[in-house]
Amino acid sequence: MSDVIRLLPDSVANQIAAGEVIQRPASVVKELVENAVDAGAKRVQVIIKDAGRTLIQVVDDGKGMSDTDARMAFERHATSKIENAADLFALRTMGFRGEALASIAAVSEVDLRTMMTGESVGTRLKISGSKVESQEPEVCVPGTNMMVKNLFFNVPVRRKFLKKDAVELNHIVHEFERMALVNPGVDMTLVHNESVMHQLLPASFKQRICDLFGKTFEHQMLPVNTSTSLVTIDGYVTLPENSRRRNPLQYFTVNGRHMRHPYFHKAVMQCYERLLPADRQPNYFLNFTVEPSTIDVNIHPTKNEIKFENEAAIWQILAAAVREALGRFNAGPAINFDSDAPDIPVFNPDVSAPHHVEIDTTYNPFESKPRAAVGMHKSPRGSQLDDWEKLYQGFLGDADTQGGGTHAHDSLLNQASAVEIAEGLDSEPALINIDEQFDGNHTLQIKNTYILSPSASGVMIIDQHRAHVKVLYEQFCQSLGEGSKAAQQLLFPDTINVTPAQNALLEEMVGELHEIGFDLCPMTHSSWSINAIPAIASGVNPVELLTCIIDDASQETSVTAESLPRMIALSMARSAAIKSGQRLTEAEREHLITRLLALSQPNFTPDGKRVIIMQSVDELAAKFR
Ligand code: ADP
Ligand code: MG
Repeated sequence: MSDVIRLLPDSVANQIAAGEVIQRPASVVKELVENAVDAGAKRVQVIIKDAGRTLIQVVDDGKGMSDTDARMAFERHATSKIENAADLFALRTMGFRGEALASIAAVSEVDLRTMMTGESVGTRLKISGSKVESQEPEVCVPGTNMMVKNLFFNVPVRRKFLKKDAVELNHIVHEFERMALVNPGVDMTLVHNESVMHQLLPASFKQRICDLFGKTFEHQMLPVNTSTSLVTIDGYVTLPENSRRRNPLQYFTVNGRHMRHPYFHKAVMQCYERLLPADRQPNYFLNFTVEPSTIDVNIHPTKNEIKFENEAAIWQILAAAVREALGRFNAGPAINFDSDAPDIPVFNPDVSAPHHVEIDTTYNPFESKPRAAVGMHKSPRGSQLDDWEKLYQGFLGDADTQGGGTHAHDSLLNQASAVEIAEGLDSEPALINIDEQFDGNHTLQIKNTYILSPSASGVMIIDQHRAHVKVLYEQFCQSLGEGSKAAQQLLFPDTINVTPAQNALLEEMVGELHEIGFDLCPMTHSSWSINAIPAIASGVNPVELLTCIIDDASQETSVTAESLPRMIALSMARSAAIKSGQRLTEAEREHLITRLLALSQPNFTPDGKRVIIMQSVDELAAKFR
């Protein structure tokens, strides 16, 4: 039998490798900007056409390449950044695999001009699908100008699977923002189809955050600073009032490299646990500096996941530093946190006292009257923010105190038990039977989050926020399905400020949004005026509603004309629904349950989250056995 094993030609091997490194246009942006930074660039321009399908160009003023190096750079495993395995553990550069350019050149047409500083002639090199087409001397400016054209031209399947332009552009903008955050000292520009999306001057880290994400951050960031022999952590966490429901800005870097680190993320989240409602997340921008030999960046080809040698110890240091930042802020001048907003106790040393139940029989949560308690016109976090300060009282100088004192601890226990009731009843709790009737029995609200009610066959536990989302969603879908395009003109048009990525999404969706009653007008590249919203959503804060829709759309892998109305209905429902942590009167609770159980599918939200946990008498009996 003859031998069958063959070595793949380089062009094929490169294409296969490219599949790992170059997933989409944004990956090319990342690799090219990293290379520019590694080359010592002080100025980096990123020019994109058609969300990167037609052109991705990165121009830098770095050290440039010789003509031989320019050609070598496109060979696989060609790198100037490491020489041997030991160097892997002392990395100070972004790149090191020598894979990126080979991969990019395998799936696109590359046109490179580069000249080393101090030379008078540079080189121009053209490569198409890994094949060098030409190389000639050319007089150019010092630095590197890399044009990547027609990405995936020779991999039609990949090209076809690129998402809509707005989605790909969104990825590019995010990648650019990440790189810009890691390199605040570099002058960086992003241009898409001739319009400038970001123009960033060299700045401090704090200023760069504001330049990228808006001036509101200026007064809403708390510095984090700690230095130990294992790690130095610096950066900012944001005030609870600067939290977000969707797409929080959460950035970790280590030694100047962006990283994802779910474990460290948990440390930060834990510090905010009692400060924010369950559906909100803080923004944070935290930089770790460690001895390069104590991390392993070699885990993943895109180099985002990083393994730390001293993970558990750093976890503790991080948590203490973030707590201290939050606590130190508390020692500062008093800040007005909207104290007249609805009463949402998060920190309640007196949880065991029975709640005083006030029945407001006139209130109907489904009336579309603007209502502060629905939490749209006011910060829903009102007194929670008053309370969060208490949480950190006594914390300063006592870094070991878990959550800031025994009261907080009690409160944590109480919350834990409420969650246990909800989650621990059964590993896979039963679904509610459609015929289940709500017999108007008394209901209880647990932690202002879950509603507990006896039912015909046992006991129901309902997530109040999800239940309301579900009810409103069905109502909105029905109205939209009936072709309701009624708009409610706003007496005073609102203004929404958007990031470049959001702007692109909004431009894409504006037609469909008009269809259902929105009236939106672009004012600048970064702001729109909202003149009308769908009548069915009246009473909802227009800016928060639109923000929610844009955020949801940016999470969708593809937004189609057919899926858009449902997505918008869900965004509107999320935006308008009562929140977790909001106290409801008995009448409100009953009204909510009745409406929920009238639906044909009350068990899950439209995005598949459980709304009701049902515990039958038999199941209870079994547990008491
Ligand atoms: P890596 O960055 O992992 O070394 P790449 O394939 O991204 O691998 O780049 C290969 C080599 O090409 C780099 O090591 C560097 O020497 C050179 N290079 C790439 N981009 C630039 C640039 N913009 N300026 C100068 N040199 C560059
Ligand atoms: Mg590289």
